Amino acid sequence: MAGTAPGTDQPGGAAETADVVVVGFGIAGGCAAVEAAAAGASVVVLERSGTAGGTSALAGGHFYLGGGTVVQRATGHADSPDEMYAYLMAVTPDPEPAKIRAYADGSAEHCDWLESLGFQFERSYYPEKAVIQPGTQGLMYTGNEKVWPFRERAVPAPRGHKVPVPGDTGGARLVTDLLVQRAAELGVSVRYETAATALVQAGDTVTGVRWRSGAETRWTGAGSVILAAGGFVMNTQMVAEHVPSLAAGTFVLGTSFDDGTGIRLGLAAGAQALHLDQAFLTAPFYPPGRLLTGIIVNRGGRRFVAEDSYHSRTSAFVLEQPGSTAYLIVDSEHMQHPEMPLVPFVDGFETIAEMAAALGIPAGNLAATLTAYNSHAACGEDPEFGKHPDWLEPQDAGPWAVFDLSLGKALYAGFTLGGLRCNLDGQVQRPDGSVIAGLYAAGACAANIAQDSKGYSSGTQLGEGSFFGRRAGRHAALAARRG
Ligand SMILES: Cc1cc2nc3c(=O)[nH]c(=O)nc-3n(C[C@H](O)[C@H](O)[C@H](O)COP(=O)(O)OP(=O)(O)OC[C@H]3O[C@@H](n4cnc5c(N)ncnc54)[C@H](O)[C@@H]3O)c2cc1C
Repeated sequence: MAGTAPGTDQPGGAAETADVVVVGFGIAGGCAAVEAAAAGASVVVLERSGTAGGTSALAGGHFYLGGGTVVQRATGHADSPDEMYAYLMAVTPDPEPAKIRAYADGSAEHCDWLESLGFQFERSYYPEKAVIQPGTQGLMYTGNEKVWPFRERAVPAPRGHKVPVPGDTGGARLVTDLLVQRAAELGVSVRYETAATALVQAGDTVTGVRWRSGAETRWTGAGSVILAAGGFVMNTQMVAEHVPSLAAGTFVLGTSFDDGTGIRLGLAAGAQALHLDQAFLTAPFYPPGRLLTGIIVNRGGRRFVAEDSYHSRTSAFVLEQPGSTAYLIVDSEHMQHPEMPLVPFVDGFETIAEMAAALGIPAGNLAATLTAYNSHAACGEDPEFGKHPDWLEPQDAGPWAVFDLSLGKALYAGFTLGGLRCNLDGQVQRPDGSVIAGLYAAGACAANIAQDSKGYSSGTQLGEGSFFGRRAGRHAALAARRG
């Protein structure tokens, strides 16, 4: 059990000791704390805010889960750990096979564990192309599973499990609230309004966390420390240094405590950070799905991405184009306005020549692109980008509508993806791969599966944060018992 250490009455002395100290009570910290306590460890959570939840409590509530979950089975969607593994290996730029294997193999059980906290994903499927289910439907496609070339690498399956809360934000709060309840039942002690400020070390081993609460500055001794303090999207200095794309007129998603403290604490202890230059950055133009039948061209009038890609993949390709400039073009048969007003309508044009002139696209290029696209689409083919036949419809009925996807015109929003390097059990690693004794990381301050915008699937952050948070909690508890 957590106990009071000798010397607590000394200024700066240890306020208490615990087998496991968790920094931050979002999805990752909550899962780590609950699993560590369930494994018999004494657990103290330090939470800087007055409530638990962090950025997780803002999240829409997608958990990326598969391999034959109870929801997939109930809605008639075949999936297997091998197909989920193959898909995640294909979309992840620098995959860590052992982590992806564990995540795919453990995903169905993890879904059951999440539900055992006290809620159920609805046993229903939302078939539309959307950013998130508008209601409480339990399952939809939230990645590039049906997008070429990924549909050839793994049998597609929907894996976006949504917590049964309508709307596009706040769903995951239901889960973090349940984690708070479970943590209390298991005797976890949560210190609110208590900010971790430094790690305490004995030689190379992490032995505690220094913290500040109001005017009080103390430390808590720990068998192991699990950093679960979120990402760094609100740290302007870190963003400018590592992900300037997020600083360039984009809307950052998170809470003010996403200031990279967890990552910085790990770095100060000798850890390596990975993928700090990567962010999830997106300006979705769908729903409605009908807009996916259109074409997206750069300012040279060329297509550069399959338009049916998951929205953050499309956005990543847009940002790579000259001037980060791109336009979505749909004809009068397919024109609808985006449901979310993130991508501005430029105008309607009677002729392709007028449209090209207005957009500054070289004469002839746009006409050639449309002609080629239309003739192939009429045959249900897209030899250039492999767009799925479901979305292949000629765009030949003028006038044409144009939407501006360019950076600075469309509203891009995002958060960081990089974090501390850690192994399968969340143990934080140095650049040479050795682990820092006593130190773990999980969630947005750790680097795991979600590595870039092109490969991101909605639900990966909550999915991996909860999954690897649990693993870190179990491993830290075991280490404490051995220690
Ligand atoms: C609007 C929005 C929608 C999203 N939707 C989804 C979605 O549907 N699915 C998905 O997978 N991802 C989604 N994301 C991303 C996802 O929410 C986050 O990546 C994820 O919640 C991070 O979880 P975490 O536990 O690592 O961090 P957090 O949930 O942010 O928890 C970190 C906690 O650490 C605390 N903390 C910070 N510093 C300290 C300190 N020094 N000492 C003590 N405590 C500290 C914070 O107060 C916070 O409570 C969304 C994000 C946003 C903003």
